[in-house]
Amino acid sequence: MKLTRRELLLTSLGLLVTGCTQTPTSLNRRPGTPWPNGVSQPIRTGTDTRTVAAPRTPIQPAPTPIATAGPPGMRPRSWWTRSGPIRSKVNPMMGVNRITIHHEGHTPVWFTDEASTRARMEQVRNIHTRDRRWGDIGYHYVIDRAGRVIEGRSVAYQGAHVSNQNPHNVGVMLLGNFEKQSPSQAQLTSLQSTLRHLMAKYRVPVKRVYTHRELGPTICPGRNLQPRIASLRSSGALA
Ligand SMILES: [Zn+2]
Repeated sequence: MKLTRRELLLTSLGLLVTGCTQTPTSLNRRPGTPWPNGVSQPIRTGTDTRTVAAPRTPIQPAPTPIATAGPPGMRPRSWWTRSGPIRSKVNPMMGVNRITIHHEGHTPVWFTDEASTRARMEQVRNIHTRDRRWGDIGYHYVIDRAGRVIEGRSVAYQGAHVSNQNPHNVGVMLLGNFEKQSPSQAQLTSLQSTLRHLMAKYRVPVKRVYTHRELGPTICPGRNLQPRIASLRSSGALA
C-alpha cells in the first residue's frame, strides 16, 4: 500500500501521533520508525511487498498481521457512528505487536446507557477529528462503564493515542477519568477479556501490554486504573 504525497506530508507534520489530553504537545512528533521484519503486511489488497528500512531500536518483535474481527460481543463501529475515517489522514497498521491502555481523562463518566455511550464516542471522535485534526477517533477499542466493548478506529489503521509510538500499537480506552473516579467492575472484567482476546490474536506477550504513562509523560490512565493494570499483568490473569 503506497502512501500518497498528502499522507506522507501529514505524517511528517505529526498529525497522527498523540492521544489523551494529558499528553504534552511539545514532544518530537516525527512518525514512528518502520518495523524490522522487512515484510509489509497486506491490509486489504495483499499486494504490498515493500521492504522497510532498518529500525532504530532492534528489540521490537515483528508485528502480527492485523485482522479486524474484534473481541467477542464487540459493538461494531456502525453501532455508534456512520462516519468513516478520513482516509488521507490515517496510515495502515501493518501488523500489531503491542497494546496500550488509556482512560478518556475528561469529565468523570457515570452513565451506563447505550445512548449516552454513543454520544460520548461521537464527542471524542469530534474532538480528535475537528480540534486535533486527526483522521478519526484515536483509539481502536473503547470500554464504557457498563462494560460494553466498542470498536473505535479500525485496527486496519494506526491509532493516534501514544505520541510517536502508534505503529503496531493497539489503543484500548476506558471511558472515565480515573484520576477522579474508579473504573467499574464491569469495565475491568471487559478489559481483561479484551486484552486476552487481543493478546491471543496478535501474539502479544504480557510484557508488551502497556499503560500510556509507561510509554510517555502523562498521568493516563489515572491513579485508580494504573494499579489495576499492574495487578492484571502480575496476577497471571492475562496469561
Ligand atoms: Zn492515554
